[in-house]
This record gives sequence, structure tokens and C-alpha cells, in this order.
Amino acid sequence: MSERENTPLLEVQSLSELLRMYQKAYYVDNHPLVSDLEYDKLFDRLQYLENEHPQFRFPDSPTLRIGSDLSSDFPEVTHTIPVLSLDKAYSSSAVVSWIQKTESKSGQALGFVIEEKIDGISIVLYYEKGLLVRAVTRGNGLVGNDVTSNIKTIASIPLRLPEDVTLAVRGEVYLPKQEFEKLNKKMDIPYANPRNLAAGTIRRIKSSEVAKVPLQMFVYEGFWDDDSHFQDHLTILSTLSSYGFRTNPTIALFCKTEKEALEKLRAAGLEGFGGSFDAIASYVEMRTDKRASLAYEIDGLVAKVNEISVRESLGYTEHHPRWAIAYKFESPQAVTVVEKIDVQVGRTGRITPVARVKPVSVGGSTVSNITLHNQDYINMLELSLGDTVEISKRGDVIPAVERVIEKNEVGQGVYQLPSTCPCCGTSLQVKGAHTFCPNLSCPDQVRARVEFFVGKDQMDIASLGPESVGVLIDLGALKDVDDIYTIDYTKVLADQPGFGEKKIKAIMEGVEKSKEQRFSRVLVSLGISEFGKKAAELLVTSGIKSMDQLLEIASKEDIDTLVSIKQIGPKSAQLLIDGLNDPAMLRRIEALRNVGLQFEEKSKGENTLLQVFADQVWCVTGSFEHFNPRSLAMEEVQKRGGRTVSSITGKTTHLLAGSGAGSKLDQATKLGVQVVREPEFMDLLLEEKPRENKQEMQGEFSF
Ligand code: NAD
Repeated sequence: MSERENTPLLEVQSLSELLRMYQKAYYVDNHPLVSDLEYDKLFDRLQYLENEHPQFRFPDSPTLRIGSDLSSDFPEVTHTIPVLSLDKAYSSSAVVSWIQKTESKSGQALGFVIEEKIDGISIVLYYEKGLLVRAVTRGNGLVGNDVTSNIKTIASIPLRLPEDVTLAVRGEVYLPKQEFEKLNKKMDIPYANPRNLAAGTIRRIKSSEVAKVPLQMFVYEGFWDDDSHFQDHLTILSTLSSYGFRTNPTIALFCKTEKEALEKLRAAGLEGFGGSFDAIASYVEMRTDKRASLAYEIDGLVAKVNEISVRESLGYTEHHPRWAIAYKFESPQAVTVVEKIDVQVGRTGRITPVARVKPVSVGGSTVSNITLHNQDYINMLELSLGDTVEISKRGDVIPAVERVIEKNEVGQGVYQLPSTCPCCGTSLQVKGAHTFCPNLSCPDQVRARVEFFVGKDQMDIASLGPESVGVLIDLGALKDVDDIYTIDYTKVLADQPGFGEKKIKAIMEGVEKSKEQRFSRVLVSLGISEFGKKAAELLVTSGIKSMDQLLEIASKEDIDTLVSIKQIGPKSAQLLIDGLNDPAMLRRIEALRNVGLQFEEKSKGENTLLQVFADQVWCVTGSFEHFNPRSLAMEEVQKRGGRTVSSITGKTTHLLAGSGAGSKLDQATKLGVQVVREPEFMDLLLEEKPRENKQEMQGEFSF
């Protein structure tokens, strides 16, 4: 192949790689690296190249697939309906031209519905005979994650329909803007937008935590299993609404004439805007202007063919239906100048460059600081001090530098991170994409580590605020978190201005009280990378209730034990093991043990139960007469010293099998795992009680 022929191939390859990286950051990590507009531009360029050079359209191209948000934390379920993305248009004239082309392709007069494009999480609700049986994320379009118990916490979603119908309903779960503002203020690491917070919430393990977030859902498509009778989209929407679903009242229908559109809306019993095709462009502009006043985020509008039979004949590509198109809004953007780049040191020593830009208003707020993530990001932008840049608000919330539009006049080269730590002067080290200060005593690092440790969700020592921490670090008394417990505050702070007797006493009391914090909090406060509250709770509830147990798992690199716990994936397990095996962490842990922090999870109330399941690993499957839900049986195992896991591995010792136990029973038999049935299990639970009490105890398991 000549060099000239090779050029588009190289571009196709590099665009595909870049888009895959952006998809992961957006769908899986919920932290986009570029704006939607930037992503869409690259996507369109790839699509253009593939159309020009079809020989370079590879089967795994990002243009042929929808970005996947599949996570290993939830079971996977195959969709029974097409759950695809949407084709995109970026101007009202492009929407009008798509409408004209689609009508002429179909060879008949059509109606087009325009709806708001809700910026949330795509969810499919599956109903069987009128009962909600499953709620599944879009996943990769073919397979999604089963998040039923979390979705059931959304009060406006009907669990039972007024008719015994079997159908799939598509919709968007979202968080209203006002609720987002309230919740996001409390987050350690704020989310960029309501969509990301809603996505994170849907993936929580504890439904009780999900229930605390006031999520909402609008539904916009229904697929009945009996190839139902519905002739148009409007009737589907009004039927869904009559079943008790929330459908978005902002809807418009466009037909040849305004009269026809209004009649069709009326026939379906819907209130909405009716107009002729001439009114489409002004309607799109009017809705775009109203966007900011809505109580929820929308990222565009969706135009859809109203007639169901025409939808069927138009069909689908692998990526989107041919009967709908999304009109995408642009993110708010502005132009400014990079005046300075500061470098910050985080609690793990990670160095983050931050651009100080000339204050500029973007999307209703003033932006003066923008994170630049790492050197790779700066190189990608080819950014130098003094450059004029275009900035945007990603997802309309987090400001980001999109591109350099004018280089500085003084010939400054691309900005390079310093080679030494701006705080302690130690030589910096590059690990992967990031740069770190390796000095664990670096004052900025210590400050960030201590501030995290004393934070509300960790050891919660409110009296030791950032100011006091700063003074203690400057005095050389605070070099790591364990010093918090050994400092002689009365002596060290005695002559410090602003530290009266009362204040010192409050610090000491706060520090002393924190020694009562539960083991799971102590674990989180260590600040192990990506190990938070949720993961700590998972460990403890699965029966790993002490630091020694956990340290043993880490020292043996026993990743299997960790991943056998429901919702702990191999990546988080490895990070935890690496974090705990780090020599500095081990030193910190031992120091915290010596000062008397809780290194063992204490059960509520006194547990006098005989530990009949000590050292055993139980898996529970099927349904039970006395344990409904079956987590009740798991609790009984844990109270008696056993560990519970969600899958069978070589380490599982027992399988408690209820009725309907399926593949796990086969697997247990194959691996020689002891299978226990419910009556035998109940006998084991009663083991420690005096014989004469046995009779009274039947069916009661919360001793
Ligand atoms: P999309 O979100 O742009 O559109 C498709 C989705 O719209 C559907 O799956 C559905 O869930 C939703 N939707 C909302 N209201 C709807 C309605 N009334 N009718 C029908 N569908 C409705 O497409 P996508 O495939 O989910 O994501 C692709 C887009 O995501 C890109 O265009 C880009 O803007 C963004 N993205 C951004 C990045 C980034 O790094 N910034 C990365 C990947 C994707």
C-alpha cells in the first residue's frame, strides 16, 4: 500500500483508539475526558472516513457499536428488544432535511414526533403479565446489567400494571437539577453533572442508598410482545401514561398541515404542540431556548417517525434506528487566556496541573480555574502559557480546555510539569499517565491525607479542621495520620495564636472520640486508591471483619477471596491488595493499631451465638420457606462466624440450596462443595440453644 493510501487508514485507527478511550471514561468511569461536542466531532470524522473508504470500516469500529456501560458489579441480562443509540444532527436545518428524506424514502405522508432528549441513564423495564420483573441498563445494546432492585426504589415506576400485559418499556432515569445541586455539595469528589450522579447511584449495591436519591424516570417507547395493535407512537405514549408511567408532557407532532397534527394529538388524548413541517425549525429553536428553565437536564431533542408500520420497514443499523434522529445541543463555550499553570499535590502524591485563566463567563458562571489532568493531556492540547484557548463546560458543569485557538506571542513552548515537587522539592516520578511526588512526608501530601482522614465520612474529627492541620504541619508535629493520636496538643499548641484552652480541648476530645469509629470507617480512612465506603461495607458484610483477616488476604495476594464477594471486581480487588501491601501503608496501619483504633467490626449487641460456621465459606442460592429474602440466611451464617460469597469457587465450603437452585447446585456438586438443605440448616442454627427451647424457636432467626 502506498503512503498516500495508508494515510486514511492511520487516521481511522487513531480515531478508533481515541473514541474507545473516551467511551470508557464516559460510560464506565462516569468522568468524561472531552466534551460531547468534541467526541461527536471525532465520531463524525470517523464515520466520514469509513464512508469514503469502506475497506477501512472494521467490524469493531466505534461507529458500528454503541458505547458500552456494562459493569461487572451486576448480573448481565440479554435484551429482547433493540436498545440502540440515536443518529445525530447538529442544526435545525439538518433535522428538517432528515425529515424530508425519511418521508420521501417511505413513499407516503408521515407524521414526526419531537420529544426532549432527556440526559439521564437509559433503562429498559421488562413487564411480564403486568408485573415488573426486570430493569436493565442499556449495556452494549444486546446485553445490559440487571439493576431491578435499585430501579424499584423509584416510586413513580409502576411495579404492577392495570393490565396483564407483557411488554418492554424504554425510558431515561434522571436526577432533577435542584436535587443534583443539593446532593453534589455533600460529595467528596463532585460529579460533573446530574447524569453522572444518577449513573453512579443506579450502580450502588445497596438499594437503601439508592432510595435516598430522588431519581425520576420518563418513559418514551413501549414494545408489546404480541405485536400489538398500536398504529402510532402517540397512542403508545398515551397508553403508557394510562398504565401509570411518567411520560414527558413536552411533545410536538408535525404533519403536512397543522390541523392534521392537532387532530392526531387530540385522538391520542395528548396535549402537545401541533404544527406543519414549516414550523419545525422555529419549534426546535424555541425548545433550545427553553432548555435552561427546565427542572431536568436535556442534551437535545429527538425527532421520530410517528407511524409504527413505517418504523418497521425503515428498520435499524447496528448503531441506531433509521426512524429517529437526535438534535444535539452544543455545550456552552467561551474563549480566554491561560495566565498561569499551578501544580497541586494530592493525598497519594499525585501531581495535578491547574490552569489559571482570565476569568470568563461560561454557561452562567465565572470560570477562572481549570484542571489539566496530566502531562499527556497538556501535550494533546499543545498548550503553553499565554495561549488563547476555547473552554467549555463538560456536561454543562465542569470547565475544560477544549483546544488552543491562538498561540502566545512570546514563543512559550508546550508547558512541562516541573521535575521536582513544588512543595518539598523531591524529584517527581512518572507512573503511567500521572506524575507523583514520592516523598510521603511532603507537607502538601500530608495535608491532603490528613484532611481526608479526619473527613466527615471517614474518622469524622470535625474539631481538627484544615487550619489546625496546617498549623500542626508547619510546626513539624504532624507528619502522617497516626501522629493525630500521639501529639501532645496542650504542649504543641500552647503558645499558638488562636488556640485557646477550649479549642485545644475540643481537638483532643474529637481525636479521642474518633477511636470509637467502626472498623469499616477506619478502613476507608486509610485512603486506599478507589476503596470507599461501599467496598468497605461489602467486605464487612461478607464476613471479613478484621484488619488481620484482610492483611492475611493481601499478603497471600488472595484475589479469589475478594472477587468471590458480590460486586467486588478483579480491578478493585487488586488495587486493595496493592494498597495494603505498600510498606508505607503497613507502617501506618500498625501505628494506628497501636493507638487503639477499631481493627475489628463489632456486632451490634452482644453475640452469644456459638460460632458453628467459623472458617466456613457459604454460598446461598434458590428460595426458602424461612429466609425470604435469602440475605436473611446469609446473615445467620455471618452471625455464627461464617463468610458468605455470591459465587462458588474452590474456596467455598458449603452451598445452602433452596428450591429452584440451578447452576450453582451443579457447580457445587462438581467441585465437591457440601450441599445443605433448609431443614438441615435450621437444625444447625439451633445447635447452641438448650434442647427444651428448640420447639419455641422454630421460624425465628433474629436472636
Ligand atoms: P445519546 O445519548 O446521544 O443518544 C441516545 C440515547 O438518548 C438513547 O439511548 C436514549 O437513552 C436517550 N434518550 C433520551 N431521551 C430520549 C427520547 N426521548 N427518545 C429516545 N431516546 C432518548 O447516544 P449514546 O450512544 O448514549 O451516547 C453517545 C453520545 O454520548 C455521544 O454523541 C456523545 O455526545 C456522548 N459521549 C460523550 C463522550 C465524552 O467523552 N464526552 C464519550 C462517549 C459518548
